[in-house]
Amino acid sequence: MLLSSYNITRILPCLADPEKIRVIAEVSGKIYEAFPYLNAILKGCIYNHPALTLTIKKDEKLFTLHAHHITLAKIEDEKGAEEILGWLRDLINETYEKRGQIEPNYSMTAELKALDIFKLLPGTNCRKCGELTCLAFAVKLVGRDTEITKCDPLFSEKYQGKKTLLLEILQAAGYEVPSTRKEQKSHERVARSW
Ligand code: SF4
Repeated sequence: MLLSSYNITRILPCLADPEKIRVIAEVSGKIYEAFPYLNAILKGCIYNHPALTLTIKKDEKLFTLHAHHITLAKIEDEKGAEEILGWLRDLINETYEKRGQIEPNYSMTAELKALDIFKLLPGTNCRKCGELTCLAFAVKLVGRDTEITKCDPLFSEKYQGKKTLLLEILQAAGYEVPSTRKEQKSHERVARSW
C-alpha cells in the first residue's frame, strides 16, 4: 500500500471562504510515485512533475498533493476533511496498484482555463493591468502573455483569499508567481497606494 496512513497536523481558517477551513495532513509513503498515473486518469488535475505536486479540483474544492503532505482547501469541517483524505487514500492506492495498466503522464496536461482564473480575479474591470476587463486579463495570463503581478488590486487585503488560491493554482501549473512573502509584500504596498 503506497499511502498507509495520514495525520491531520494543521487546521487553519480558509482564506478563500471564512466559513470553511484549510487542512494540512502529513502522509506516510512515497505518494508522489502515484502522481503520473493519477495525472493520466483524472480530468482537470494539474501536475507539476519537477515540483512533485498534483492539484485536484473536485466539487469546487481544491486538493494539492505534495511529496509528504496533502493540503485541502474550502473544507466544511474536520469530519469532511477525514472523508476526503479517506477518498484520496483509496484513489492513490487503487491507482498505484493498477499502474501496470496505465500509461504514466508526466506532462502538465491540465491547461488552465481562463474562466477558472477569471473567477479568482477581483472582477472589477478596473483596467489597472492594462486590459479592458478581468476576463481579457485572464485570457492573456493563461496564454502567458502577461503576469499575475500586473493585477495590483489582487494583492490588496480585500482579495487575500482569492490571491492565495490563485497563486497556488498558478504555481502548481508552473506559472511564474511572486514566490516569497517579500515579493508579495512589495505588490501589496503597490495595491494599497491606489
Ligand atoms: S487589474 Fe485586476 S481587477 Fe483590474 S481589470 Fe485587471 S485583472 Fe481585473
